[in-house]
Amino acid sequence: MIRIAIDGPSGAGKSTVAKAVAERLGIDYIDTGAMYRALGYKMKLKKVEPVEDDRLAELLNSTEIDFSEGNIFLDGEIVNDRIRTPEISMAASACSALASVRKKLVEIQQGMAGRKSVVMDGRDIGTVVLPDAELKYFITASPEERASRRYRELIAKGQDVSYDRILSETCERDHNDSTREVTPLRRADDAVLLDTTDMTAEEVINRICTDACKMI
Ligand code: C5P
Repeated sequence: MIRIAIDGPSGAGKSTVAKAVAERLGIDYIDTGAMYRALGYKMKLKKVEPVEDDRLAELLNSTEIDFSEGNIFLDGEIVNDRIRTPEISMAASACSALASVRKKLVEIQQGMAGRKSVVMDGRDIGTVVLPDAELKYFITASPEERASRRYRELIAKGQDVSYDRILSETCERDHNDSTREVTPLRRADDAVLLDTTDMTAEEVINRICTDACKMI
């Protein structure tokens, strides 16, 4: 069994790398950012504000999030594309600062990892969700490089977005994620730091797969 934890700031390429590593090793990939996005999306849809403790608790109790064959299901419905907009990025960042939200999602994530091999990416995988993961990485890149990667990705999907807005939102999310009181984004002491500003995705994927093959 091998559990690979990949953390880092938004737009560092975690999901591209994690998905490819999982595919090559033939193990499951769990995108925890998609889970925060799905919840942020549902809070927006139901107009539940972070300060409404009772309504939020009710929403959390009645929410099911699952992955199957590369799709994310929110209450039984595929929401892949609906959660990948700049608006939902901000909603996910806001809801991820709430202790009750993190508690619920960390429980689900630990249940998903159970006793099987997985690649899981997020912000707190190496520190909180899978502290005893066999391999841990902290992937980062400059804010400008991360913003331009996300810009190209959204433009390729046909979304009408501006680079400057994405850069300022990237910096804002970095700030939210690393200064929040509950589980701020930080590198686990035993995580390998990979600065990918001048690395291709392929180089990062090869590096992780080589490390993993040494352990299998
Ligand atoms: O990785 P992605 O950009 O899809 O994540 C969306 C948001 O969810 C992040 O900005 C972060 O605030 C939050 N998140 C988190 N913990 C995780 C994964 C994501 O707080 N494990």
